[in-house]
Amino acid sequence: MNTQFITILGSTGSIGVNTLDVIKKNSDHYKVFALTANTQWQRLQHQILEFKPHFAVCFDEKSCHLLRQSLINESVSTKILSGLDGLKKVASDDRADTVVAAIVGAAGLLPTLAAVQTGKKILLANKETLVMAGEYFMEQVRLHQALLLPVDSEHNALFQSLPNHHYSKNVEINWSDFGVTKLVLTASGGPFLEEKLENFASKTPQQACLHPNWKMGRKISVDSATLMNKGLEVIEASYLYNMGPDQIDVVIHPQSIIHSMVNYKDGSVLAELGNPDMRTPIAHVLSWPQRIHSGVDMLDLIKNNHLDFRDVDHLKFPCLKIAYSALRQGGTAPAIINAANEVAVDAFLKEKIAFNEIPNIIHETLNQSDIVNANTLDIILRADNDARQLASKIADTKQSLSREN
Ligand code: NAD
Ligand code: MG
Repeated sequence: MNTQFITILGSTGSIGVNTLDVIKKNSDHYKVFALTANTQWQRLQHQILEFKPHFAVCFDEKSCHLLRQSLINESVSTKILSGLDGLKKVASDDRADTVVAAIVGAAGLLPTLAAVQTGKKILLANKETLVMAGEYFMEQVRLHQALLLPVDSEHNALFQSLPNHHYSKNVEINWSDFGVTKLVLTASGGPFLEEKLENFASKTPQQACLHPNWKMGRKISVDSATLMNKGLEVIEASYLYNMGPDQIDVVIHPQSIIHSMVNYKDGSVLAELGNPDMRTPIAHVLSWPQRIHSGVDMLDLIKNNHLDFRDVDHLKFPCLKIAYSALRQGGTAPAIINAANEVAVDAFLKEKIAFNEIPNIIHETLNQSDIVNANTLDIILRADNDARQLASKIADTKQSLSREN
């Protein structure tokens, strides 16, 4: 295996930290080229001192200044950049072989696109990129012959369960030609799976972020609690694997041992199983088509001898149907619900709105928006921006209503 140089966009987050852990365990094969963060300059400073990358980027200017100051007396030659230009530079630099896209939210789109447009290997965790700009993004992947590999555990499980030796060519594959009938995404159901709907209004950010199986960033944790995460993942799977909404099912599987499944027309169901730990899919895509150690313990099926499956309760979790509806509408609809969700989750985390208002804000934003073809980046960015403004207005009215009550 040749040494690969890696840029990690979002290295201070949950996926970023897990990626660095896998790299550390396989340091003969992987070196860090660049690390990036938004405001978490102190954590970035520790990572710089440990991994000594060529570049580090703080998107936020003020944090970038503090990071530079903190490194003055240190003997590292890491070049510090800031802003979107800095992110794009380290995502597209010729010396980086692989880019891990692990920024959260729509902020990840432009840096990830910069990596795609230089034909690199992209390890995609940032699902919002595909939700916002799925068709355009996949077109760019094929045009620039980038290699796009999924980090998201469900999509990684699907990738491992599909006949993926066809995949590296990056042509649009029709999986039904290979006997695939359905993709089945598993969902843990999040922390409120057993909770009564009438209690949703009083749920706090802390409770919503307490995921039973996975330790993740705050935004995706809230998405898991509303099941919007699964909605975003249905859209992600649809663009990634060129499958329509009717070919993608969701099943609740609270133990998160089966990470997703592929149904074939002969009755076979192929699945990927393992302990719920993101280092497994990260290690898989880093080394694909080979295998490396990830640090994750082997699954013990005797200890985990009880696997449950059940249907989604759509009354409690309306976000999933909203996402399917946006996927069916196509065009800018997925970008609109993604933006509205980011605004609503942020308002919830700041305790401005109640937990049960999140789906309402997304639904109302989608209903009040014009949906157009999403064939250029400008159109996608405009739809994202307009939906953010509309969702913020709607969230403000929910906030003032809750104050009156
Ligand atoms: P996180 O909040 O822990 O980390 C986010 C990272 O993005 C941080 O490094 C942060 O500094 C950076 N960032 C945030 N806003 C930014 C901005 N405006 N500009 C530049 N950088 C910015 O999030 P996470 O849980 O690691 O998730 C990252 C992505 O991976 C998300 O899209 C999430 O949906 C996806 N994902 C995460 C997991 C998981 O287990 N955490 C699993 C599957 C998919
Ligand atoms: Mg996932």
